[in-house]
Amino acid sequence: MNNQINRFSRRFFLGASTAAIVVACSQTQPEQPQSETKTEETPKQAGQVNIYSARHYNTDDQLYDGFTKKTGIKVNLIEGKDDELIERIKSEGANSPADILMTVDGGRLWRAEQAGVFAPVNSELLNEKIPANLRDPNNLWFAFSKRARVIMYNKDKVKPTDLATYEDLADPKWKGKILMRSSSNIYNQSLVAGMIEAKGEEATSEWIKGLVANFARPPQSTDTGNIEAVAAGLGDVTLANTYYLARYEDKPEIFAKIGVIFPNQENRGTHVNISGAGLLKNASDRENAIAFLEYLASPEAQEFFAVKNNEYPVVQGTPLREVVKSFGEFKDDTTNVAAYGKNNAAAVKIMDRSGWK
Ligand code: FE
Repeated sequence: MNNQINRFSRRFFLGASTAAIVVACSQTQPEQPQSETKTEETPKQAGQVNIYSARHYNTDDQLYDGFTKKTGIKVNLIEGKDDELIERIKSEGANSPADILMTVDGGRLWRAEQAGVFAPVNSELLNEKIPANLRDPNNLWFAFSKRARVIMYNKDKVKPTDLATYEDLADPKWKGKILMRSSSNIYNQSLVAGMIEAKGEEATSEWIKGLVANFARPPQSTDTGNIEAVAAGLGDVTLANTYYLARYEDKPEIFAKIGVIFPNQENRGTHVNISGAGLLKNASDRENAIAFLEYLASPEAQEFFAVKNNEYPVVQGTPLREVVKSFGEFKDDTTNVAAYGKNNAAAVKIMDRSGWK
C-alpha cells in the first residue's frame, strides 16, 4: 500500500488463530492483504516509532504517512486485536519494542491502563487541545476521535418526535420493533456502562429488561447489518455508530430510508466513545512517541479522522464531511470515558441477568 510503513502483523500472528486479525470496525470494507515484511525483529533505532494498533481501518496508513512526512520519523506498525496487543506488551515487559498503543473504545484503553502498560505524558499541547473528559485523568491515554452511538430509525415507520432518549427504547410501544446487536459487543457494553454511571445499576437493569422485551428478534449482526435490516423494514429502530451510516451515502436505497436521532439532548447528552492512544511505560523512543501523540491532535490528523473514517474530531474547529454534518449537531455526554472501563464488568453482568443475549 505504501513504502513508509513497516508492517509486522503477519509475523506476529503466525500460528495464532485466524480470528486474530479482526475486522472489528470495517464491516463494509474488507481488509486488504497486508504486505509481508522480511524483518524478524522490530527494529529499534533513532528516527522511528513503534506503534501497536488495534484500529483496523485501511485509511489509517495515510495518518502514519502524514506523520512521517511532517517529522521524518518512520513508523513501524503492528496490528492486532486489542486484548492480544495488551497481552503482548505485558509479556514483552522491559524488552517491548512498542512505544505507543492505539485502540478503539474507552473500555479497552481502561483495560490497558489497568494492565499497567502506560506511562503518563505531560504535554501542554495535549492538555490544551483534548477536552478533559476525553483523556485519562492521569494523562495515561488521550482520545483522538469520537464516535456517537445514536438511534437510527426507518423514516417510513417512525417520526423523529416519537422518541428522544435511550430510555424511551424501553417503552412498551416499541414492542417487537427494535433490532439490536449482541451484548458481547463492546460498543453496547460501553453504552450500558455509561448508563450505569449516569443512573446506577438498578435503573440500568430495569431499562435493559424493557429494552429486551421490545426486541424484534434475538440480538445479532453488526451495526451495518442492523442498519440494513431497519432500512429493509425488519424492525423500526436500532442503535449504531454514525460513521457506519455515512458509509451508505452512495446507496440511497439504504441511506435515504434511515433517520438519525441524537439521544438525550435535553439531559446528559448522546453517548460517545473514542479512539485513543497512550505512551507505553517501556517505550525507548519516548520523544518520538510523544511527537506522534501530539501529531494526532494536529489539524491535519484531526481532519483525517473526520474525513476518512467519518468519525468526530476531538479538537474544536475541525471541518466535518457534508454527510456527517447532515446528521446534525448534538450535545455529547461528557462523562469521562474512563467510566466505561470502570463499569464494564457491572455492565456485562447486568446485561446477562436482564436477558440481553
Ligand atoms: Fe467500529
